[in-house]
Amino acid sequence: MKWFKKKKQTVDRSQEEPHESVAQDLEPETSREGEDVREAVEPVEATGAPEAEKQGFFRRLRNRLSKTRQGFVSRVDQLLLGKKEIDEALLEELEEILITSDLGVQTTMALIEKVREKVERKDLSNPEELKEALQSEILHFLKVPPRPGRIAGEKPHVIMVVGVNGVGKTTTIGKLGARYVKEGKRVLLIAADTFRAAAVEQLAIWAERISAELVRHRDKSDPSAVVYDGIHAAKTRGVDVVIIDTAGRLHTRVNLMEELKKIRRTVTRQLPDAPHEILLVLDATTGQNAISQAQLFHEALEITGIALVKLDGTAKGGIVVGICDSLGLPLQYIGLGEKVEDLQDFNPDAFMKALFSEVNQGA
Ligand code: GDP
Ligand code: MG
Repeated sequence: MKWFKKKKQTVDRSQEEPHESVAQDLEPETSREGEDVREAVEPVEATGAPEAEKQGFFRRLRNRLSKTRQGFVSRVDQLLLGKKEIDEALLEELEEILITSDLGVQTTMALIEKVREKVERKDLSNPEELKEALQSEILHFLKVPPRPGRIAGEKPHVIMVVGVNGVGKTTTIGKLGARYVKEGKRVLLIAADTFRAAAVEQLAIWAERISAELVRHRDKSDPSAVVYDGIHAAKTRGVDVVIIDTAGRLHTRVNLMEELKKIRRTVTRQLPDAPHEILLVLDATTGQNAISQAQLFHEALEITGIALVKLDGTAKGGIVVGICDSLGLPLQYIGLGEKVEDLQDFNPDAFMKALFSEVNQGA
């Protein structure tokens, strides 16, 4: 970590940018150094009664998936409109819609194959049944077995959040932290993305907003040193949940992964069973790139779960299916916007219902 020390002595701005970028497939973003981070933190909205919350949950999910509904479900509807039978041409067009909605080639092929088998067995004969079959097959792909209980016995429960720059890590940490605070948990955030000053500041704003504690270093220190202090503080203060924010870009991808491994070791040395979760944040708007990012991070760090965010900003929400099908990792959370309540537990049934329900249904 010599280069971190070197940076302390020099204020040459050009050195803050990577000399060599992380591999192409780890690059969804532009540098946001100097940006007014206050704009990225939305105010916390008041929440209502449980029933209203449940309705709000579904309405929000439905509304925020509107782009995907238009880009995917409406196209399927148009394709099936007025068709009397399911022929090879129709299946080919369906295949194209699925691929361009980012379900991924492999997942699409598997889906089409299942549908074709049903047609051949005469289990499926008309386009309306085809739509139903499509929904149930997709749902099957989405139901990756859930992980056992989230909060382990050990206290503090430590969640390390990783992902490339700009995907939405810090925002997701704010939203996730807010949920634990609301549950009455004492939450501490650790600012281990020391690569960019603005990143630490952004986390500090979130900590204040959601009433979480924060451990940060004032200068660009070694991320593992901040993590050491953070875990120590959490243990002595009796904190329930620790969430660690990390960098998404260093000079090279190898550098980044080594840094993240070092952070993980630092945690484990202080708490043998921690980190209890390594949550990978993926940006739904980056399409298939998200899948290659997941593979790289999982190889290096053994990810325990995924948060797929910015689903409100893409017409290609089919990426959800690709992620569940090809990674074998649980999709734990979905991000539907920038506010606290925009982070939801991923619920395959609710997701499919929201995606395929008619405009005036379930609202
Ligand atoms: P980080 O570099 O990975 O920490 O990413 P940030 O948390 O700073 O987020 C980058 C940008 O994405 C910010 O402008 C966030 O407000 C925005 N963002 C994060 N999650 C979501 C989401 O679910 N939906 C939308 N629309 N924007 C999001
Ligand atoms: Mg960040």
